[in-house]
Amino acid sequence: MNLWADFHTHTRYSHGTGTVRQNVEAAVKKGLSAIGISEHGPANIGIGTVLDDFARMRDEVEHLKGIYTGISILLGCEANIISLDGDLDIPEKVLNELDYVMAGLHPMVWTESLRDGYHLLVENMLQRHVESLKEKVLRQNTIALMRAIENHKIAIITHPGLHLPVDTASLALAAVKCGTALEINAGHGYMTVEYVKIAKSYGVKFAIGSDAHRPADVGDLRRGIEIAEKAGLTEDDIINAAEIRR
Ligand SMILES: [Zn+2]
Ligand SMILES: [Zn+2]
Repeated sequence: MNLWADFHTHTRYSHGTGTVRQNVEAAVKKGLSAIGISEHGPANIGIGTVLDDFARMRDEVEHLKGIYTGISILLGCEANIISLDGDLDIPEKVLNELDYVMAGLHPMVWTESLRDGYHLLVENMLQRHVESLKEKVLRQNTIALMRAIENHKIAIITHPGLHLPVDTASLALAAVKCGTALEINAGHGYMTVEYVKIAKSYGVKFAIGSDAHRPADVGDLRRGIEIAEKAGLTEDDIINAAEIRR
């Protein structure tokens, strides 16, 4: 399976170790045709990107486009879903300036309200030990994700099921309706083979991303490819696979 792009990479603007330029250089070396810079939104506690930095990254990306002409350099993001209503931590005005939007659930974020924090953070922690909470938390997480993709133009949902459990079937249905892809995260190994199989049965598209936090990992998509192949996906199922590009 051949992949032509890595849409999920981080830099020093959040808690990655490399610069935008180093990520691009790494992508060129790996032979990719496209690289996306996708920083965390500002709500990630301690590591979020300052909103003003999206304009700085845009300047860098535009500058690098003139130097690395053999690769498409895109500016995206990995926004946080910060409420049960599916609100994102990056305002629409900033999202509109990006080439694509990814969003996901993370366990350590500043939520929109204390109530959202209780449902999305505290209850998610508690459900690991409290059996009776599991179903409620699964439903809440899934609703937050579904509302996010229904209310925003999101290209890819990152690592569904990582840390915060999700009802894959409901998410996949909403994703198909909104034209959103679900990510197989090569760094974390989520979605798992089992969940990819469920999501595929609803006809959803997938994206494989490295979630690289250092340049050396940019374009390292092997673990994601392994999951995809075990789940029986073909290149047609994956938005950054060779077949789709033509
Ligand atoms: Zn993430
Ligand atoms: Zn990430």
